[in-house]
Amino acid sequence: MKNWEKNVRKVVPYIPGEQPKAEKMIKLNTNENPYPPSPMAKAALKQMDLDCMRLYPDPTAHVLTDAIAEFYHLKEEQIFVGVGSDDVLAMIFLTFFNSHKPVLFPDITYSFYDVWAEMLRVPYETVPLNGEFQIRKEDYFRENGGVIFPNPNAPTGLELPLSEVEEIVKANQDVIVVVDEAYVDFGAASALPLIEKYDNLLVVQTFSKSRGMAGMRIGYAMGNPLLIKYLNDVKYSFNSYTMDQTTLVMGAASMKDRAYFEETVNKVVETREWTKGELRKLGFSFGDSKANFIFASHENCPAKELFEALRKENIFVRYFEKPRIDNYLRITIGTQQEMETFVAFLKDYLKK
Ligand SMILES: *Cc1c(COP(=O)(O)O)cnc(C)c1O
Repeated sequence: MKNWEKNVRKVVPYIPGEQPKAEKMIKLNTNENPYPPSPMAKAALKQMDLDCMRLYPDPTAHVLTDAIAEFYHLKEEQIFVGVGSDDVLAMIFLTFFNSHKPVLFPDITYSFYDVWAEMLRVPYETVPLNGEFQIRKEDYFRENGGVIFPNPNAPTGLELPLSEVEEIVKANQDVIVVVDEAYVDFGAASALPLIEKYDNLLVVQTFSKSRGMAGMRIGYAMGNPLLIKYLNDVKYSFNSYTMDQTTLVMGAASMKDRAYFEETVNKVVETREWTKGELRKLGFSFGDSKANFIFASHENCPAKELFEALRKENIFVRYFEKPRIDNYLRITIGTQQEMETFVAFLKDYLKK
C-alpha cells in the first residue's frame, strides 16, 4: 500500500440501475417516465441562440426557480435547484447533517442515503420498516441529527399519510427533516403546505420521474428562505454554476406546461392501476403503490428467477439482492402497450 493511500477518501459508490443498450427493449428498471418531456421544453430548446454558451449561466438559476415558484405559488427565496435531486440531497446532507447524533432513515429506502452519509462521515442509523414495509412514525420520535425519508417510499411505493409526516416534522423541530418526494406527483399527498408552518422542513422533488426529464438532471428543494439561503451558501462554495443554460431554459418551459404534466402523470397512474389488477390475477402480492412503480413478489416464482427470465426477453426490471427484499421486483410503469407486453409474457411464463 502506498503511503498516500491512507489519506484517500474511500467510498463504496451508489450503484445506479442499468442503462442497457438493447435495440428493442422494454425498460422498466429505473423509474423513468415512458413519455417524453413537454413539447414546450423541446420548442424552447429549438429557439435557443447557442451563442449564449459563451457566457456562464446565471448562478441563481432565476428563470428556473421563478418557474418553479410560480407553479407552486411560492416565493423564489423558497426554492433551491440542483443537478437532479441527487445533487440537491447531497447538498442537504453537507449543509444540515453536521451533528454528532445519528441521522435517521428507513432500513429499506433509497439506497443513496447511506452512501452520502458514509462519504461525508455523517453518523446515521437505519430504522426498520414494519412487517408491511411501512414507516412507523413513533420510531422517529427520539434524539437524532436529522431525518430523511422518501414519500412515497422507494422501492416500496407506499405513502405515509400527511398527518403522520407532520407528526414527524413536529416532533423534530431541533433538526432538519427532509421529505424526498421524487414520486409524490403519482398520487400521494405532498408535505409542501407544511413548509409555511415548520422552518425545519425541506421538501425535495425532481424532474426525473413525473416530468420525463431524467436525462436533463433537475431537482429542487422547497422550504423556509433561511434554509434555502444556507443551501445556496454551500452550493456557491462548492460549484456556483451547476445548472447549465440549456437545462435552465428547458426546465422553465417544462414547468409552465401544467396541462401536459397532468395528462402524462394521469396516463401513468391509469396504467399503474391496470397493471395492479393484472398482477393480482397472476398471483403477485404488493402494497398499494402511489409511485410510478410496483414492488411485487410472487407466491411461487422466485423474484431472481423471474428477473433473469424477463431479462432474456429484453424486459428490464429492478432486482435488489438485499435482506428483506430479495424476493421482490420493482417494476416501473411504462406505456400501456409496454405493460400489456410485460403482462402477456408473465401469463405465459407462469403457466410453465
Ligand atoms: C430517483 C430518485 C431520486 C433522484 O432523482 P434525480 O434523478 O437525481 O432527481 C431521489 N430520491 C428518490 C427516492 C428517487 O427515487
